Amino acid sequence: MYDLVIAGSGPAGMTAAIYGVRANLKVLLLDRLAPGGQLVNTNEIENYPGVGKINGAELAMNMYEHCMSLGVEFDYATVTNVEEVDGKKLIHTEEREEPIEARSVILAMGTTPRKLSIPGEEQLAGSSVSWCAICDGAKYRDKDVVIVGGGNSAVDEGIFLAGIVNKLTVITDFDLTSDPVQADYLRSLDNVTVHPYKKVDEFRLKDGKLEGVAFQDKEGGNEDFVPCDGVFEYIGAIPRTEFLEGTSLINEFGYIEVDEKMATSIPGVFGAGDCTVKNLRQVSTAISDGAIAGHEASVYLKHLDAQNN
Ligand SMILES: Cc1cc2nc3c(=O)[nH]c(=O)nc-3n(C[C@H](O)[C@H](O)[C@H](O)COP(=O)(O)OP(=O)(O)OC[C@H]3O[C@@H](n4cnc5c(N)ncnc54)[C@H](O)[C@@H]3O)c2cc1C
Repeated sequence: MYDLVIAGSGPAGMTAAIYGVRANLKVLLLDRLAPGGQLVNTNEIENYPGVGKINGAELAMNMYEHCMSLGVEFDYATVTNVEEVDGKKLIHTEEREEPIEARSVILAMGTTPRKLSIPGEEQLAGSSVSWCAICDGAKYRDKDVVIVGGGNSAVDEGIFLAGIVNKLTVITDFDLTSDPVQADYLRSLDNVTVHPYKKVDEFRLKDGKLEGVAFQDKEGGNEDFVPCDGVFEYIGAIPRTEFLEGTSLINEFGYIEVDEKMATSIPGVFGAGDCTVKNLRQVSTAISDGAIAGHEASVYLKHLDAQNN
């Protein structure tokens, strides 16, 4: 039986694991994919205090090695349910027949990219339509690319892509809403054009391949078309809390509701990071949540032990 099982090994989950193991808890960290969460798909992190500029995958590996050096256990597993039976938390996964038993749980599953759900998207997903510039950007060297979106992720990844591609067109339904310094830098690049207050209608295909992106004014009218070889979508995120649907743990948008101790409505179950209700979803805030959740899990278990003795 583990003292603490953590679902999700992004920055929130890994920080929670460090705080848990340093409080002498037996900690198991689970992830459906390689450790690091969204860091793995991020080019440069420039706003994480103390490190200046760092590649996302490198920061993820540093965090993972830190966890391993302290004795955190890691396993690949997709959590499908968490239930409480006889005071134990049972963590069900796709990979194991038997549930994993724990005394406390931290839910840190992050988010997944929101999709536009427009014609052409489904046919081209994974080929000419992508949600990860770090993974797929290199194949568009000297080609023309469109980014849909104007928030932090769109702008950061736009700066990365602009250094690779021939022409980058950014289409967004507001203006650029990211960090203003980054937005100004993106706008200043010679090969970048920004179309604000537009609505993307269709990824147009010709002979089964992407021909370009059709868009118009947000309120309608002024239909336009940009020919391109690839599209990257950055239009927000959906919390990865599918298995919590129908429970009292999540709000109407699927985000986990937590208090200032990152505690959910179920004693011994905590939430941390991007999958919780919050205003700013960044590495620094995920880490803060993880630290609090890992610490509070140890406090919860100490109280439990004191009650039982
Ligand atoms: C393109 C992009 C650029 C970004 N740039 C920056 C930046 O410059 N600076 C900054 O501070 N932030 C940036 N962010 C945001 C930052 O990456 C996130 O806020 C941060 O990673 C959130 O951490 P997390 O641990 O909450 O979730 P995530 O990093 O999303 O990690 C969640 C983990 O949970 C796993 N998981 C999900 N469901 C399950 C399940 N059922 N079972 C097991 N595991 C599961 C996932 O595989 C994932 O590894 C960027 C994000 C993106 C997408």
